[in-house]
Amino acid sequence: MSLPAPLYQEPPGFDRLAERRRDTDWWASLKTEATARVLPVWHGKHAVTGPREAPALNAVSARSVPWEALGAQPILLGTDGTVLWLAADLGAVDDPTVDDRVCGFGPLVDLRTVGPLLPGAQGALAVQARGLVWFHQRHRFCGVCGGATEMIEAGHARRCRDTGCGATVFPRMDPAVIVLVTAGASILLARSPRFPPGMHSVLAGFVEVGESLEDTVRREIREEAGIEVDDIRYVASQPWPFPQSLMLGFTARAVTTDLRLDPEELEEGGWYRREDLLAISADRSVGTGAFALPRRDSIARRLVDGWLAGTLP
Ligand SMILES: [Zn+2]
Repeated sequence: MSLPAPLYQEPPGFDRLAERRRDTDWWASLKTEATARVLPVWHGKHAVTGPREAPALNAVSARSVPWEALGAQPILLGTDGTVLWLAADLGAVDDPTVDDRVCGFGPLVDLRTVGPLLPGAQGALAVQARGLVWFHQRHRFCGVCGGATEMIEAGHARRCRDTGCGATVFPRMDPAVIVLVTAGASILLARSPRFPPGMHSVLAGFVEVGESLEDTVRREIREEAGIEVDDIRYVASQPWPFPQSLMLGFTARAVTTDLRLDPEELEEGGWYRREDLLAISADRSVGTGAFALPRRDSIARRLVDGWLAGTLP
């Protein structure tokens, strides 16, 4: 099985340098490392440069980041063999558009608006930076004793500062399944009331404690659509740090097709034939208010496009 090219996938050879994360002297030296480039992140937004239709992440010199004034530490992302990539949390700044310390970094934009337009490997750097900064902002206190925590391992963990506790916490991710359900020459698409106008997508849901992924697929489809599925197959994954999901894409075959949609989750849904979807429009992206498929950077869209192209069963 193959799919359209994924977004947010690290390029071959990218090295996260995990074996260096515990070298505290090296970590401290990164603040002034001449070859290091830093991706500033401010409350989930990235500094960008370039024209609106072709933006790129704005990576600044490590030496231009006011680390001490921000109370920030370099978060190690990795190296592509040429550049050592870091992230910096600008969260201590109230308004980055007027703050002299950081306003030169450029406009700050939500990744969801620029992600599909970023060149090459920048998307993978962006999602790692965004996800790690989110982790640090949300784990400032220990879940065991309530004490303050501190960043360790070059930004890939936090440790409780209470010497009697010392609990370590690692970045959290919430796995979620997203499932293309087929019935002969049709697929199941539905609308959540939370979707943009017109958008229809495949069904998705978070994995619950104690479930296998296959259990989750069966439960979510039963709960949301009232049908049973089998022949569950894993297809591909996609990091989705909005804020901290990992999307796991599956296909499944409907055993029953009489839909009973959960009105709490779905306001509309049905079986869509391939020829009808292909006829709707050439683009089929959200934005017009008419029937549309999910954004091109989503794994939902990749599953549907893969099926339309005949590369998925
Ligand atoms: Zn603690």
